[in-house]
Amino acid sequence: MTNQAKAIHVDAHGGPEVLKLVTVDVPAPAKGEVTLRQKAVGLNFIDIYFRTGLYPHPLPHGLGFEAAGDVVAVGEGVTHLKVGDRAAYGQSPLGAYADLRNVPADRVVKIPDAISYEDAAAIMLKGLTTQYLLRQCYRLQEGEIALFHAAAGGVGLLACQWARALGVKLIGTASTPEKCALAKEHGAWEVIDYSREDVAARVKELTNGEKLPVVYDGVGKDTWMTSLNCLRPRGLMVSFGNASGPVEGVDLALLNNKGSLYVTRPKLGDYVLTQQDMQAAADELFSLVVDGSIKVAIGQRFPLEEAAKAQEALAARKTTGATILTID
Ligand code: NDP
Repeated sequence: MTNQAKAIHVDAHGGPEVLKLVTVDVPAPAKGEVTLRQKAVGLNFIDIYFRTGLYPHPLPHGLGFEAAGDVVAVGEGVTHLKVGDRAAYGQSPLGAYADLRNVPADRVVKIPDAISYEDAAAIMLKGLTTQYLLRQCYRLQEGEIALFHAAAGGVGLLACQWARALGVKLIGTASTPEKCALAKEHGAWEVIDYSREDVAARVKELTNGEKLPVVYDGVGKDTWMTSLNCLRPRGLMVSFGNASGPVEGVDLALLNNKGSLYVTRPKLGDYVLTQQDMQAAADELFSLVVDGSIKVAIGQRFPLEEAAKAQEALAARKTTGATILTID
C-alpha cells in the first residue's frame, strides 16, 4: 500500500530558499527496509553541504540523515525490528526531512524506553560520530589530552561529555565566551576562544610544551594550519568536517616538516559498515545517555516546515548543541 508523506526536497543547489515542502508517495517497504512514522528529525551541518552542492548528489533529492519514530511497516527479511518498535537512525540514504519514510533496516536501531524521540533524533548521527571519533578513529585513553574544535556545537557538546566520561582532558574551542562557557559546563577540561586567542600557543602552555597526540577538526579550512601546529611528533589530525570550507591543496611535505604527522579524513559510514557495528556503537552511546553521563543538549527546535530557517541558523553559527526539526 502506498502512503503519502510531507517532506523537504531540493530541486536546485543553493541557499536555504531552495528547500521546498513537497508531498511524496511512500510505497510499502522493500525487502530489507522498514517504514518509520517519524516524530523528530536531527539537523546536521552535512545537510548544508548537500543543499549547496559541496557534496554532489543528483537532483532532485531529499535532505537529512537522522531521525526517530515508530516502525509502522516491515519489509521482507527484516528480523530485528517489528511494527510498533520505537526506533532511530543516523546514517541513512538522504531523505530524513520527512514525516514518513522507508529506510534500510540495517541502519535502524531500537531506542531504549528512557530516551525520547527528540533526544534520539538529536544524537544518532552526532553521537555515533562522537563514538567513532573518540573510540575508533583514535582510541582515547584516560588522562590523555585532545583538542576538539567547535566544542559547543552538536557533535561538540557530545564530545565534551563523552571525553569527561572517559577521563580524557578535552580542550574545546569555540567562537564566543558564551559558547566556551557552555563547552566547559558540558565537561571540557579547558576551553579556548579561537576567535580571540592563539590556539597553538595555549595548547603548548596547557600541555607543558608537549602538545597533543590528536586533534579533532570539523571546522576545516580556517583551523587546518592551527590544528597541525597543536600536534606533537607523529600526532594524528582527524579532519572530519568543513564548517568553514573544505581543506584544499594539502602539501604532504607540511606533514613531514611539522613532525611526521598523520592525517585522516574519516566519515561515519565507514565506521558502522554492518548492522552489528551500528548496533554496538549505538549501544555504547545509549548506555552513556541512560546512565546520565551524557545529557542530550537540544539548543533549538524548528517545525519540519521551517527547515530552511533551521539551516540558516546553523550556518550562521547561531546554534549551540543539537538542532531538531519537530513533527506535529
Ligand atoms: P555544529 O553544531 O558543530 O555547527 C558547526 C560549528 O562550526 C558552528 O556552530 C561554529 O561554532 C563552527 N564554525 C567555525 N567556523 C564556521 C563557519 N565559517 N561557518 C559556520 N560554522 C563555523 O555542526 P555539527 O555538529 O552538525 O557538525 C560539526 C562538524 O562535524 C561539521 O563540520 C560536520 O560536517 C562534521 N561531521 C562530520 C562527520 C563525519 O563523519 N565526517 C559526521 C558528523 C558531522 P563556533 O561559532 O564555536 O566557531
